[in-house]
Formats: sequence, C-alpha cells, structure tokens
Amino acid sequence: MDCRYCAGKVTCRECIEKYLKRRDKAEEMREEKERKKCVYKVIKGGGNRMKKVVIIGGGISGLTAGIYLQKAGFNTEIYEKNAVPGGQCVGWKREGYMIDNCIHWLTGTREGSGLHELWKEVGALGDGVELYKKEKFFSAELNGQTLTLWRDKDRTRQELLELSPEDSEEINKLMDMVALAESMQVPVDKPFDKMNPIEFMKMGMSMADMGKVMKAYGGMDIGELAARFKHPLIQRAIVDYMPPGYQAYAFLVSYATVTGGNGDIPKGGSLEMSLRMAKRYRELGGVLHLNVPVEKVLINGKKAEGIVLSANEVKADYVICASDAGHTFSKLLDKSYMPKDLKTMFEERQMYPVVSGFHVAFAVDGLLEEAKETSFFDCKPLTIGKSVAKRMSINNYSYEPTFAPKGQTILQSQFIQTEEDYAYWMELAKNQEAYKQKKAELSEEALFRLLERFPQLEGKVSVIDVWTPATYDRYCNAYHGAYMSFIITKNAKNKTVAGKIKGLSNVFLAGQWLMGPGGLPTAASMGKFAAYRVTEAEK
Ligand SMILES: Cc1cc2nc3c(=O)[nH]c(=O)nc-3n(C[C@H](O)[C@H](O)[C@H](O)COP(=O)(O)OP(=O)(O)OC[C@H]3O[C@@H](n4cnc5c(N)ncnc54)[C@H](O)[C@@H]3O)c2cc1C
Repeated sequence: MDCRYCAGKVTCRECIEKYLKRRDKAEEMREEKERKKCVYKVIKGGGNRMKKVVIIGGGISGLTAGIYLQKAGFNTEIYEKNAVPGGQCVGWKREGYMIDNCIHWLTGTREGSGLHELWKEVGALGDGVELYKKEKFFSAELNGQTLTLWRDKDRTRQELLELSPEDSEEINKLMDMVALAESMQVPVDKPFDKMNPIEFMKMGMSMADMGKVMKAYGGMDIGELAARFKHPLIQRAIVDYMPPGYQAYAFLVSYATVTGGNGDIPKGGSLEMSLRMAKRYRELGGVLHLNVPVEKVLINGKKAEGIVLSANEVKADYVICASDAGHTFSKLLDKSYMPKDLKTMFEERQMYPVVSGFHVAFAVDGLLEEAKETSFFDCKPLTIGKSVAKRMSINNYSYEPTFAPKGQTILQSQFIQTEEDYAYWMELAKNQEAYKQKKAELSEEALFRLLERFPQLEGKVSVIDVWTPATYDRYCNAYHGAYMSFIITKNAKNKTVAGKIKGLSNVFLAGQWLMGPGGLPTAASMGKFAAYRVTEAEK
C-alpha cells in the first residue's frame, strides 16, 4: 500500500507525523476561531478554571457578571453591602404588604431577542416564570378627561384621534413611529468596542426602523414633542411619565416596548427576580457575601491585587466594580482612574442630569379597579425638597396577588426629585428626627391628595412606608440619589463607556452608569460585557 502523502513508500512514519501535526494545527486554528467568536463558551472548556474574580456589588449587573464568569469556569465572589442581593431591583415587606421598588416594565420579555436569552441565562426569566402582560403604559387625567396609552397601539391611536381630531397628523405620525420603535433592540453579545464593522452593520440593519424614528424625533426633548400637539391632555400625558430632559425618542422607545410585548413584568416582581438570579449564581458555584461592604480596591502598580474589607483583604486576579460609578470613583478607586467619557458626564451636570424620587406606599382595603396599573392626575401643589409637585402618580399593584393580603392592594406614589432636592434631603438627614418628621408630614399630604382624587378610599387607606433620595444614597451608595443613570439631554452626546480602566489591566467596570439612561437591560448587558473582558484577558 502506498503512502498517500509522499507516494511510493508503504509506511511512512514521517508523513503520518506530519499529517497528525497538520491536523492538530487545523484543530487549534478551528478552536481559536471559535474562541474569537464566543469568548464565554471557550473559557468554559479552557484551562483558567481557578482564576479568581472579585465582584463589588450584587445588583443586577454584578450578578450577571458573576453568572457568566461562573459559567466560563472562573472562581468568583460577589461582595454586596446589603443584606439582600439585587441593588436597586428590590422590594421589601411592610405590615404584610410587599413594596416593589423597581420593575414597571422589563425590556426583553419578548422571545427571540438576545436580551431575552440573556434574561433566561441568568435566571431572571424562563423556567416557568410567568409574565404579567401590562394592559397599558399609563393613563393621564386632566380636566375630567382621561387618556390611556394602551398596550394595543391601534386602540390608543383611535382614542387619541377621537380626543383631538385637530392633532390627527401628529397623532398618526407618533403612532406610526411607535410601531417602528418596536424594532429597537439592546445589543448584548459583546462590548461595542469589540465589535467588528460587519457586526456593527448587522446591528444597524436589525434596527433599521429606528433610523426613521430618529429622523422624525431626534434632537427633540419630550417637552418639544408635547408642544407639537394642540390638546392639553395629550401635551400633559407626554411629559407625565418621564422627567424633563429626556429625549422624545426615549419616550417612544419606552412605549414601544409595551406595545411590542417586550416590556412585561415577571410575576413576583423585582425582589423575586433578583433572588432568582442570586440563586442561579450560587447554583453555578459562585460565592455571594451579603452585608459585606467593600472599602477599597487594593492597587499595586498597574494592577489590582484584590479588595479591602473592614477587617481583612481579599486577593484576586481580577476585580469588577459593579457598584454605582460615582461611589466607585470616590471611595473604591482614585478619581484619576475614571474613564474620560464618564468624567465628562459626571462633570456636565446640565447636559447629563440624574433624577431621584420621593415615594409613598399606601395599603388599601380593596383593589381600586377603576385605576389599574399606572395613572397620573392633578393635585394641589406640594413642595417636596426644592421642587413643587402639581401632578401625582399612583402605581396600582392589584395585578400581583402576592403583594397584599386577599382583597387588598398596595398603591405607590412617586414624585420626581432633582439633584437640588437630593442635596436638601441629605442635609435634612443629618438630623434624623427632622428627617423622619418631614417624611411623615409629606406622606400625610400625599395621602390627603390621594383621597381628594379617590374619595371612595376614605377610611380604607393608610401610609405604610416613605422613602427619599437619601434612601437611595444610603442603600445603594447611589450618586445624587439616582436610580437610573444619566439622562442624555438633546444637546448631549450619547456616550457608552468601555468598562476598562486606563492604567489598571485587571480591573473592569460594570453597571448601568456605563450607558445612559441606564435601567435593567443596561445593567445586565454591562455585567455580561465585564465578564467578556475578563475571559478575553485570560484568552
Ligand atoms: C423606583 C425605580 C423604578 C425603576 N424602574 C425600572 C424599570 O421599570 N425598568 C428598568 O429597566 N429599570 C428600572 N429601574 C432601574 C433599575 O433598578 C436599575 O437600572 C438597575 O437595578 C441598576 O443595576 P446595577 O447593578 O447597575 O446597580 P445597583 O442596583 O445600584 O447595584 C449596585 C450594587 O452595589 C452595591 N454596593 C455599592 N457600593 C458597595 C460597596 N462599597 N461594597 C459592596 N457593595 C456595594 C449596592 O448595594 C448595590 O447592590 C428602576 C429603579 C427604581 C429605583
């Protein structure tokens, strides 16, 4: 038999060896190609199993980073300052009621998107988690009239046209654009700075309709969008839901999330979702330390050696800061490490404002079926901090039976607070008695206004909790009490911060602050991207 490689010789050991070498090389190249395609998967089978990663912050971003790194075979530990994981995505019990302080809508509930897959991988969705399908985005009332932005966008269009035929041109344009904005997707595969031109092109093509939305409403804020309409209720509704400064397209995209069936609410609410993610993380072998605040990242030259806790140090090969960015660069790391784009956003307070909230939770004997989900209405002016509220909102949680005893429900009101208000609350909180007294006084005022609007609740409603911008500061070390990231105002450049730090090769950033305006999808994707950077650094 001839050797098929060099022909003529019967057994050619040399050729067999050469062939085997070539085959190994080809196999190696194939593996390398795969590795480039998906860093997460290759590390899973790789040889870096015991590299240790410490993650600061057990919010949605930190948990996501931890889950992906555990899956990739790393040895990770999350250090969270609070007693429960989830950070801003949280809820708590009061007097037998559950107060839910996050999810009004979770982008990514529609199947078929990368974000939906991410939520399933981290345990937020999937595995039988039911969804509450919101009926509406919200309702707004004014002068005895009510306008609802329904999940069913045709119904909304019809109601808008009936309400204000003279706005028909703007209404039709708005509703056409809402339909197009349903194409919006949150890219979650890999960090933007790691995408090649083809991947960028593909991403752009998948959201081509968003180009039309931006053409129609880019460079316009919600106030300007509202001013295009003649009817005062339509004008009012547009500015009700989002704090001033938000761009018009953000309003459209948010509403389109609901109309497109991509913004439902996982049953059990925010806390349950965070706990499911923490469970997934632990099941994968991750170690979650609760009630353990981190004091500092331990730096030696151009590398981090680990973290400093109150009583000891923890060594690590990598550190991920998934804590609030303001806190990260004032307490954990020297400010000089702050990436340039992030620095710009922190410095330009007018261009990139943040907001917080003053909240009151009411326990209700009954379900208040006449005001389901979210509603806004006029109220007597109420001074909260430095702001004066003339509108009030209620979120009715009657859709979630686990939040209240049978036949009862919980209502929550939120009043938007500015950075000036935050300063007011922080000053007041230095005197705990005065702070508590102000909270009690304002919550009674809010109750009074609630009863003015819903007199049928007289004798059936009571205040069960109150929280302020100072609460966010205390609980999450949140920059200026913010629970979302920077608002990108119309003249501001939209900046996505790469989660790496110049001068520190093994410290990466995660968290919603890396991309305005933040929110759960941003937090999760930035957590996944931080995991990507660690796995890539390990090759
Ligand atoms: C009222 C409200 C409504 C919201 N509604 C929605 C919504 O409908 N949809 C949506 O997408 N988003 C919503 N959000 C926003 C969403 O909750 C946040 O965007 C998201 O949870 C941020 O996650 P994160 O992991 O980036 O940050 P965080 O949640 O802030 O997590 C950071 C974690 O780090 C911990 N930490 C900080 N410092 C330290 C330290 N030194 N040591 C150890 N741990 C530390 C904190 O305790 C926290 O757990 C809402 C938020 C609020 C408050």
